[in-house]
Amino acid sequence: MAKVLKPDILVSSIYAITPEGLKNRKIYGLILDIDNTLVATHIKDPDEKLINHLKTLRDGGIRAIIVSNARKERVEQFARPLNIEYVYKALKPLGRGFKLALKKLSLSKENVAIVGDQLFTDVLGGNLQGIHTILIKPIDLNEPLPIRLKRIIEKPFLINKRYEDKI
Ligand SMILES: [Mg+2]
Repeated sequence: MAKVLKPDILVSSIYAITPEGLKNRKIYGLILDIDNTLVATHIKDPDEKLINHLKTLRDGGIRAIIVSNARKERVEQFARPLNIEYVYKALKPLGRGFKLALKKLSLSKENVAIVGDQLFTDVLGGNLQGIHTILIKPIDLNEPLPIRLKRIIEKPFLINKRYEDKI
């Protein structure tokens, strides 16, 4: 398998990620995708459960920033209740958004992981930057056609992969 398409860790959801699990791997910062990673694409605002989970990560010493390819309004509205910094229209897998995020996190790439649901944007982009990559099982498979096509291409790379329920 192409190394740049290989996630370091696969998890069932964002809730599988604990501060301890990250710190055991020397990860102190997360770059978070929104759509199909934190919520389904049609959900405009984070719910209580997500707000609390990100607070648990933060209280556990993990910094986090959103890096999304979505447009400004979508990302701004979603980030506000989470009280978290963000980069919108990031053009993942290209490097600009990742580099900006590393700078804002004030962490070096060895100590940061991208958390996302797509191999060809989140995992590829993260691996090209030399950061850790955490692939999340997509929340809602009822996706727009271009993404459904990407899922078909992703499939062979994900055969026999085990998604952890807790790290
Ligand atoms: Mg996504």
